[in-house]
Amino acid sequence: MKTSEQSLSNAVTIERKNFDALFASLIKREYQIVGPTQRDGAIIYDIVKSSNDLPEGWAEEQNAGTMRLKRRNDKALFGFNSTVQSWKKFIHPPSQRLWQTKQSSGKPAIIPEKSKKQKLAFLGVRACDLAAMGILDKVFTDSPFTDTGYRIRRSDILVIGVNCTQAGGTCFCASMNTGPAISSGYDIVMTEIVEKSRHYFVVEKGSKVGEEIIKELPSAEANVYEIEGAEELVNKTSSAMGRKIDTTNIKELLSRNSENQRWQQNAQRCLTCGNCTMVCPTCFCTTIEDVTDLTGREANRMRKWDSCFTMDFSYIHGGSIRPSVYSRYRQWLTHKFAAWHDQFGTSGCVGCGRCITWCPVGIDVTEEITAIRMSDKNNPSITLSKENK
Ligand code: SF4
Ligand code: SF4
Repeated sequence: MKTSEQSLSNAVTIERKNFDALFASLIKREYQIVGPTQRDGAIIYDIVKSSNDLPEGWAEEQNAGTMRLKRRNDKALFGFNSTVQSWKKFIHPPSQRLWQTKQSSGKPAIIPEKSKKQKLAFLGVRACDLAAMGILDKVFTDSPFTDTGYRIRRSDILVIGVNCTQAGGTCFCASMNTGPAISSGYDIVMTEIVEKSRHYFVVEKGSKVGEEIIKELPSAEANVYEIEGAEELVNKTSSAMGRKIDTTNIKELLSRNSENQRWQQNAQRCLTCGNCTMVCPTCFCTTIEDVTDLTGREANRMRKWDSCFTMDFSYIHGGSIRPSVYSRYRQWLTHKFAAWHDQFGTSGCVGCGRCITWCPVGIDVTEEITAIRMSDKNNPSITLSKENK
């Protein structure tokens, strides 16, 4: 987070009672607003039209394999941590048509799919999810093989971030250096502060358009007390993180432990359901399906999310190259935390904790990596304890 001195010239405060002016300003600019909302016992991201749609006064309790909503004792609008799914579904849709073919006068015509530009304002993006969007940008646009559809969808998205002021049960963004404070990639960033007699937001601009929007809102220059209060809340969140992970030389650790017995132990629990990949904000793998109508006159080529936990995912002539459960879990974890560095120059994990919460058997990636580190033959503390025996 920025220092108070840096922030002083920029930050303003917006009172809760004036918060809907933000919606008015975004709607005037023809943004469709996507934000958190409560539905079916969970908090999800969907179209929101006013602060009435936000999950006011709700929080969630998360642990390995469990999540339930609970009432807060205040009326915070962003008093929860991570949602079921991330923003990935809006920029990398679960299913999309690539092209279709139709018979006309006996001849098939191929009709390419045109990706539509979308003017979306993402309201309430957390630091981990913003980091995940940065990773997806690298995957889809920062290489010789740009995904045109992704680039078009991503091109007109306004990001309004919210700093986390409490840690979730399964979060470990502090270990991954992605949060809880938002440091870049936003148009506007806010910290929500709920006091006994006052509910307000400390707000900073991150882009020209963000600055223009803030100027339209009823606001006051933030004072030192307000800025430092916001910073303190975010700093406390970092130290109260539910989980942590030691990432020292993690690529080398995982690479030399491809035959660690922990993979086999884990395979006795893993259901290969793929939930962890579906909820992960950075997993991007897809498969292609061709779908025809019954007459054979029309066919659609679809691209759909896939998962390295399915047998088909690694199917080549003669069979799947990862038939065992342990090989599939190992593929997922080592790609995310090790090989991703070689491919994209970054970790594939942002520490959002979703894979831990939504794993039906409660497999916890932080526990798995810790177990591998503790049983690593090159771990100096293991060697030391053996020598001491
Ligand atoms: S680790 Fe958990 S969520 Fe992932 S495939 Fe295995 S059982 Fe499913
Ligand atoms: S691997 Fe798990 S904790 Fe890491 S980004 Fe994916 S879902 Fe979040």
